[in-house]
Amino acid sequence: MDVAIGLEIHVQLATKSKLFCGCSAEYFGAAPNSLTCPVCLGLPGTLPVLNRRAVELTLRLALALGSEVQPISSFDRKSYFYPDLPKGYQITQKQRPLALGGALSFPGEAGEETVCVGELHLEEDAGKLIHAGDRTLVDLNRSGIALLEIVTEPDLRSPHDARVFVQTLRMLLRHLKVSSGEMDKGALRCDANVSLVPDGGPPGCKTEIKNMNSTRAVERALAAEAERQWDVLSRGQPVEHATYGWDEARGTVVLQRTKEEAANYRHFPEPDLPPLEISSELVRLMQGELPELPQARLERWNRELGLSGKEGQALIAEPERGEYFEEVVAACDSPREAANWLLTELLPLWTGIKPPVPAAGLGTLIRAVNDGVLSRTTGKSLLEQAVTTGADLEQLVGSEEVRQLSDTASLTKLAQETISSHPQAAADYRSGRTQALGFLVGQAMRKVQGRADAARLRKLLARLLDEGADPPAT
Ligand code: ZN
Ligand code: MN
Repeated sequence: MDVAIGLEIHVQLATKSKLFCGCSAEYFGAAPNSLTCPVCLGLPGTLPVLNRRAVELTLRLALALGSEVQPISSFDRKSYFYPDLPKGYQITQKQRPLALGGALSFPGEAGEETVCVGELHLEEDAGKLIHAGDRTLVDLNRSGIALLEIVTEPDLRSPHDARVFVQTLRMLLRHLKVSSGEMDKGALRCDANVSLVPDGGPPGCKTEIKNMNSTRAVERALAAEAERQWDVLSRGQPVEHATYGWDEARGTVVLQRTKEEAANYRHFPEPDLPPLEISSELVRLMQGELPELPQARLERWNRELGLSGKEGQALIAEPERGEYFEEVVAACDSPREAANWLLTELLPLWTGIKPPVPAAGLGTLIRAVNDGVLSRTTGKSLLEQAVTTGADLEQLVGSEEVRQLSDTASLTKLAQETISSHPQAAADYRSGRTQALGFLVGQAMRKVQGRADAARLRKLLARLLDEGADPPAT
């Protein structure tokens, strides 16, 4: 028995204004109903005007997924009654979506998997209900926000794969700057349909799962639903067509409505919007402006910079990291060290979206360590200092106090001083107890707070000790 999962993903497009009016789309944290106008309030007699940017962003994703952009698409009204929908209908694309087909590959449990895309369409968001004690309030700031809906074929074969697919899509959306993809802020919302597929048989009846607010919730909810269907079938009962909501706190799916209660949306063409025509010139133009896609970038990093798949995945997971990595490589000319410093030293200190230190600073630091001007230990502590205090990393790296003793004269002087202030250890070494050398290296490093090349110091100490050794007794 297999599980078949298809997804319906709503993405908030990164437009400045709403889909059909000029109201600001930055509603997060705004005072309720402060970002509204007669159009998005649904007042009678108003006319929608399509946001060009929303169309361009949808085209960008369509081209990245290899979808077929439709030369003519159109809008429909999806009618239903709900307090957060003042018009009594949502403007969406039902009959003729903006793009059809396409696919996205991702690293699944059993190797690389590909999910086919059914369609991409534009639609407007509804408002929000705020439940406050025994009252329910309506906030229409979100009403009319531009959404892109992505419908996939039921190609996913495990809840885990569904999670990784959503993560991969989210990364692509962020990379293309089509959406912030922030699930906790509702900028990416995911519904799923789930059915069990008996061996050799057609898929069973599917159910819909809603209210999954994180990629982790996607995996947990779908696993719970597959389990529930399996239980139903093993009791000899049929799986019923129904919609369930995921209850994160209880870790279970809750029945929301059955087939009998299914809404009839009575879609019909939106009379206030003309058909949307996309010229082949625009498609060509957008194709030319498409940035290097994450998959292509990973392959290039592997080919040209020798990065492993794992390192590449970690660096590309957030677009800001990938961009930053390229800048650091340019600044220090050492891809291996740039990846190393970024992944092991900087990422643990990187909390927000913006890089914690400028790429040029980290590049300078890596160069200094590579050239032996700074010890790795000093480099790490300077980086930490720059991140926590906001100090200029390039200045820190340039200051005299942190520079490593690298000239032979200073190192020799340090070695000589160490030997004369630890005569016992020197004598021990000379009489054959070679482990005393480690002690002397340690003392010398301590004296200069680690600012010396320990390996060179060790050789120098050994040579001085050997030279000054008493001739062996005869
Ligand atoms: Zn408005
Ligand atoms: Mn929708």
